Amino acid sequence: MFTAELTFECYQDTTIDAVDGAITQLIDALRYNGQILGREFPTSIDDGVFITRVVCPEEESLHPNHHSSIVEKRLQALSKAGLLAPKIRLTGMDLHSDNTDPCQQPEWQVLYTHYLSTCSPLRCGEHLAPIPLYKLPTPAIGDHQDLLRWQVDWSSTDELQMHGTTLKQACSEVLTDISSPLNHTGWQLAKDIEQQSKVPTYYYLYHLADTTEPSAKTARPCPSCGGTWQLESPLHGIFDFKCEPCRLVSNLPW
Ligand SMILES: [Zn+2]
Ligand SMILES: [Zn+2]
Repeated sequence: MFTAELTFECYQDTTIDAVDGAITQLIDALRYNGQILGREFPTSIDDGVFITRVVCPEEESLHPNHHSSIVEKRLQALSKAGLLAPKIRLTGMDLHSDNTDPCQQPEWQVLYTHYLSTCSPLRCGEHLAPIPLYKLPTPAIGDHQDLLRWQVDWSSTDELQMHGTTLKQACSEVLTDISSPLNHTGWQLAKDIEQQSKVPTYYYLYHLADTTEPSAKTARPCPSCGGTWQLESPLHGIFDFKCEPCRLVSNLPW
């Protein structure tokens, strides 16, 4: 991942409110298109110039070739707020995030995130490396907002079940139950991605130790079709189960 600075200059008199609104809308559009990652984008003002710091999956993520039509519209709207198009400067490599997937066309992919991840929730099945969302066909709603909202829901639930106290149990159930609204949404998103990208797309189902039936852990059937789905050896040290027809992967309890 790479860090970058977007510098916005005013070309006419304007107000802080107008500038702030226009920049925020552009940043949201870039985020929902997968061109920038994370949820916090510090913006500073210095001598009439506004600078927003972002993290991108690739060096060329902010190239106009990757813009969605929504990003284009937000860029055009900058001039109404008295701003010129931003100057983009790459400032370096981000040491704390995963490297972007090198595949042109992955053989299979998986929807997988966790509470510390700010990367794309779509990962290459071969490398488990995040795939920038702007490389996918654009969904009907114009960007990947639905997918990123699901990711925030999933990782917030994960965080509560890791560190929460009163909500720990409830959150664990939401993550492990294939029929919970959270998993229903994610599994459907994976199916939509497969349909649009023509790449087999799996959904990761989180699994916790079943304390009532310790011997059942290896005999655990696929929660959707009831078939056998345990792999001979784990994939990426995470996935111990994979059901091809159901497009589900899961783990043994840690
Ligand atoms: Zn790959
Ligand atoms: Zn199955």
